[in-house]
Amino acid sequence: MTSSNQFTGKTALVTGASRGIGKAVALSLAKEGLEVVVNYANSSEEAEQVVSTIKSSGGRAYSIQANVAEENEVNNLVSSVLSKSSRIDVLINNAGITRDGLLMRMKTEDWKSVLNLNLSGVFLCTRAVARPMLKQRAGRVINITSVVGLMGNAGQANYAASKAGVLGLTKSAAKEFASRGITVNAVAPGFISTDMTKDIDSEKILSAIPLGTFGTPEQVAGAVRFLALDPAAAYITGQVLQIDGGMVMG
Ligand code: NAP
Repeated sequence: MTSSNQFTGKTALVTGASRGIGKAVALSLAKEGLEVVVNYANSSEEAEQVVSTIKSSGGRAYSIQANVAEENEVNNLVSSVLSKSSRIDVLINNAGITRDGLLMRMKTEDWKSVLNLNLSGVFLCTRAVARPMLKQRAGRVINITSVVGLMGNAGQANYAASKAGVLGLTKSAAKEFASRGITVNAVAPGFISTDMTKDIDSEKILSAIPLGTFGTPEQVAGAVRFLALDPAAAYITGQVLQIDGGMVMG
């Protein structure tokens, strides 16, 4: 599947790549010839599975365990990638969690854990790769946010706030890094079939999706691949690309 091409010799770090959207993104970038770093928090077997799927198709990948909500773990993660691969060309900030509950009853701990990973984790990873990317005078950062960050959602005040925060972070980073050839964009999925959405009552939601189905991780990965690799995306920065079946318009 992989052949020597313009992306051979480039490295992508994908956070939360053991399952779901991150896994689809890792497979897709590896297929294009990039070396992929498969980050995960707990699922070492699943992460190894992603690595061996990539390798068995002739691609290059390795996994690194790190909780990307923790500053020292993020710094160690990025140092390890730089010592193994010497460069980071693409960062996909994908790792995310939900801890749903109505605001009135939401535990402070659930507020903090979601903000710590979904928002601070994006900040920590972006800051850690900024220096090598600035030195290279090139890089692409894609942050996986959510349409919930655009529209809000009852029972997800923590998640919506974290994903809305990612939008502000994306636009600010895009402005700071633009002069050095680094683009920063966000991808906002709607409802995608993964472990995160497996317990959702889909009937209620489907009526709000004009295209009438949940999306697939591969459809999100296609948008990420475009922003991360396509030469046509070089002039796109600070933008949000929605992959939501038309759920949120305007
Ligand atoms: P998922 O299937 O639950 O997978 C989550 C991934 O994040 C796993 O690989 C997990 O690793 C990793 N992760 C969790 N905590 C981590 C931590 N502290 N440090 C590093 N990695 C960690 O989720 P998904 O549905 O693919 O979602 C991926 C991203 O898309 C998230 O940011 C999510 O908010 C966003 N999103 C999803 C949807 C959707 O409908 N699914 C919609 C909009 C946005 P382990 O396997 O080791 O736990």
